[in-house]
Amino acid sequence: MSAERIDAVSSPRYAQLPTFMRLPHQPDPEGYDVVVVGAPYDGGTSYRPGARFGPRAVRAESVLLHGTGVDRPQGTFDLIRAVDAGDIDLSPYDMGAAMALATSRLAELAERNDALLMIGGDHSLSLAALRAAHARYGPLAVLHLDAHSDTYPPVYGGTFHHGTPFRHALEEGLVAPGALVQVGIRGHTPAVDSLAWAREQGVSIVTADQVMEDGIRLVLDLLQAKTAGLPLYVSVDVDVADPAFAPGTGTPAPGGLSSREVLALIRGVGALRPVGFDVVEVCPAHDVAGITALFAAEIGAELLYQYARSHKGKQA
Ligand code: MN
Ligand code: MN
Repeated sequence: MSAERIDAVSSPRYAQLPTFMRLPHQPDPEGYDVVVVGAPYDGGTSYRPGARFGPRAVRAESVLLHGTGVDRPQGTFDLIRAVDAGDIDLSPYDMGAAMALATSRLAELAERNDALLMIGGDHSLSLAALRAAHARYGPLAVLHLDAHSDTYPPVYGGTFHHGTPFRHALEEGLVAPGALVQVGIRGHTPAVDSLAWAREQGVSIVTADQVMEDGIRLVLDLLQAKTAGLPLYVSVDVDVADPAFAPGTGTPAPGGLSSREVLALIRGVGALRPVGFDVVEVCPAHDVAGITALFAAEIGAELLYQYARSHKGKQA
């Protein structure tokens, strides 16, 4: 494939092989601002499986997105150089092997490029991505958008399931003290006090109800206060949005944010110091008309623009 992004003027957007946002496919990238990488895996899901097909669905929907648009004085790809590195070939059978390979591949990519955008896959692999970002940048601030805290202990004999990534990240010292901010948390959890452990670790938990009551601006003020100056990792589980906006996911929870609210939160990231991203938990078999995959693609596109704005843009 060409070393340039496919030009929508000469090639209709439904044509050619679907890389993320029609970026060039570069399986061995070095020196790029951002590398997009797929992590097709759902060995960590606790309910509906199928997120292994997420990267393919997200890429397919992402061909619609240009990177230029309203309120953008410069387009994303006028500001940064980005490529799609393809997928990591993760074992569908062995959770430990998948985590080990994801960790080594993401660390290698992060060492040779400035930032990664991982397309999941289930949320368990965010631990591997956090390890890679930590190896490059040191203790991280984290913005985690999700219906679930994902700080639960291992269950069913599975150490690295999709409810554990932020517990491991805290225990492994990947997160700077008090710098994990979770937004959109709600719904049913296995125990009445299942958020207590996270709060004891200094995690800031903003529930979906609090987002509604306080508004996006106050949430962004909290994020700024908790993460100022630190390298910021952003992890988006699409189930942060209400199932009306993101039906295609493994553990849906009613009462969530709208897609507009999620994107408004992400638009605050460019004022901070973002260094790594993921968008996870798209399960195409439960999707309707590609709603969730397109939403995830838009989140990824917005994260790329926010990275560009933060690191290369002339305006704050
Ligand atoms: Mn979730
Ligand atoms: Mn999650």
